[in-house]
Amino acid sequence: MSLIVQKFGGTSVGSIERIQRAAARALATQQAGHDVVVIVSAMAGETNRLLKLASDIAPVPDAREMDALAATGEQVSAALMAIAIQAQGGKARSFLGHQLKILTDSAYTKARIKAIDAQRLHEALGEGKIAVVAGFQGVDDAGNITTLGRGGSDTSAVAIAAAVGGECEIYTDVDGVYTTDPNICKTARKIERISYEEMLELASLGAKVLQIRSVEVAMKYGVPVHVRSSFSDVPGTWVVGEEQSLESVTVTGVALDRNEARVMLVGVDDKPGVVAQIFSALAEENISVDMIIQNAPSYGLEARGSSGEVKADVTFTVGKADLPRAKLVMEKIASGVGAVGIRYEEDIVKVSIVGLGMRAHAGVAARMFQLLAAEGINIQAISTSEIKISCLVSTKYAELAVRVLHDGFGLGNKA
Ligand code: ADP
Ligand code: ASP
Ligand code: MG
Repeated sequence: MSLIVQKFGGTSVGSIERIQRAAARALATQQAGHDVVVIVSAMAGETNRLLKLASDIAPVPDAREMDALAATGEQVSAALMAIAIQAQGGKARSFLGHQLKILTDSAYTKARIKAIDAQRLHEALGEGKIAVVAGFQGVDDAGNITTLGRGGSDTSAVAIAAAVGGECEIYTDVDGVYTTDPNICKTARKIERISYEEMLELASLGAKVLQIRSVEVAMKYGVPVHVRSSFSDVPGTWVVGEEQSLESVTVTGVALDRNEARVMLVGVDDKPGVVAQIFSALAEENISVDMIIQNAPSYGLEARGSSGEVKADVTFTVGKADLPRAKLVMEKIASGVGAVGIRYEEDIVKVSIVGLGMRAHAGVAARMFQLLAAEGINIQAISTSEIKISCLVSTKYAELAVRVLHDGFGLGNKA
């Protein structure tokens, strides 16, 4: 008998009928002879609704209270799921993060799991029950409710699978991981098997089908993850180790991230310690930074301040949700780093290509830039790693850029 962790995302528990359907699936899995742990998200739209209630009251609500608020969404679906399983003749018990417990650090709204006490899960399973766990939430050392960041129920599921030694099924509204978001690009193709490394990049670059931390945890503990549809029985995508993934094509997928905002500090002093000061101030507020660009003044062409000092521009991106707090930080430090101006830009998206095969192929970046240029899409910033290239472009080109890259790199379904 094996243990299977089944996670149902927001759409898959978006109505009473869907909760009943998910409950039936969990029961059928148990009847096939498995121990079953179910992880649930909040019902579709609920987390957004809760967060909006808070932001209607205060522009930057207290993070601890935001977590206390947001965690209620999953509490509702966990209880309803347990009731649905019981109503279908099964045995079930729901658990909140603190009841298990899922111990996290205290970084509200983006907490990391430190440990999971699986004893109560094992007790429930030993009594023939399906254990239903509220995803997305945990508890810190001091007993405060924490949440794991948007999409965090994926991470709850994989972490619980790692803790109890099971495999993990992620039930969602698409039937697997595609070469790009199938809701944007009609020619997107389902990938049968994808390596943890590539999935990690796709997730961190905006493919929200799995939360990035869930992939990190899966990779660290070697948890096989099966991403599949809650509306059908067709096999989905297996996320597995590199050696088990399919041949490494140059580009495996294209991702789009609409959640970044750009901050530009104009004319900061070009001297040691300035950049450290800017990013330390952001780190102190637990604001993660993605792209960073500092222009290096070239000889004879330096920009100079009023007293002749050399000036530079520092541009970086942060999550849109962090922008209000990043603004407060920038306003505090701007004069200390000699900035003559600050600009904020939310009308941008990041489009990226990912593939293990890039390690061995030259010219991939050039091809990406040519494809975008051919459509008249201006690239506002670029960042690269061994297996990905990202470009910042204007929001109006988001979907066009995805399609052009997807089809330009030959990822589409051959009709
Ligand atoms: P859930 O609520 O089940 O967690 P999410 O909305 O978080 O579901 O994630 C599923 C969505 O991820 C899909 O509806 C799809 O629009 C989006 N998505 C983005 N990139 C991809 C991709 N490469 N493959 C599959 N889905 C993707
Ligand atoms: N309900 C949370 C969210 O919408 C967590 C999740 O669904 O995974 O982000
Ligand atoms: Mg999700």
